[in-house]
Amino acid sequence: MSATVYFAPMRSKMKRSMVERAGGLLGRAGLSGTVAEGDLVAVKLHFGEQGNTGFVHPVYLREVVRRVREAGGKPFLTDANTLYRGERANAVDHLSCAIHNGFGYATVEAPLMIADGLDGRDAVDVQVQGKHFESVRIGSAAVFADAMVVVTHVKGHEAVGFGGALKNVGMGLGCRSAKQRMHADFRPGVSAGACTACGRCVKWCPVGAIVIGSGNVAVVDYDACYGCGECVASCPYGAIAT
Ligand code: SF4
Ligand code: SF4
Repeated sequence: MSATVYFAPMRSKMKRSMVERAGGLLGRAGLSGTVAEGDLVAVKLHFGEQGNTGFVHPVYLREVVRRVREAGGKPFLTDANTLYRGERANAVDHLSCAIHNGFGYATVEAPLMIADGLDGRDAVDVQVQGKHFESVRIGSAAVFADAMVVVTHVKGHEAVGFGGALKNVGMGLGCRSAKQRMHADFRPGVSAGACTACGRCVKWCPVGAIVIGSGNVAVVDYDACYGCGECVASCPYGAIAT
């Protein structure tokens, strides 16, 4: 299946700002035909982590919100909690992180809602009949929304090369237990010959699943590991692989 892709020029010599032009892509992609009057519209994004810039800037989200409202919808910004420990593993930390990164109501002019609730248990089974899963548990605010707009920053990914809109929705809106299932096949192994016990992967692992063992080699605790693949990218000596 192919998709139609629209681009907005980044040159700023035209009278319309970059934000306006990016927002205009929604119109070209058919927003008015997707959103009906009074629809609750989930705007799926990634709120970033504290201290990083790996997210779409809130001013673009404000423009998306404005256009969804213009189309008659009631937008809210949403994402689901992360599996790894950190600043987005529950709704309280997640919302604090979002506001810290500039996604407060005063900027984006829409409420924020964590799709799978306070601790990741507010989710419903969605039948997908896919290759790997017959159903997936998705955050309920996303499932019960009338429409969705997906705003994605493209990122590199240790396991699949890069992540874009499909990952943003397919994995990003899974509740914490769904994310655990999606990652379950990824099992990192350490090559004892290549490991220098530098400890970089130990610091990098988001769930503390790696220690330097008695043989002076990194050791993975597979009960704690959730298969994110981060350690593969972290090792400067290529000592970790699946
Ligand atoms: S894949 Fe690596 S970084 Fe991710 S949880 Fe497992 S040990 Fe930690
Ligand atoms: S980052 Fe690589 S070399 Fe360093 S401890 Fe981990 S596996 Fe060993």
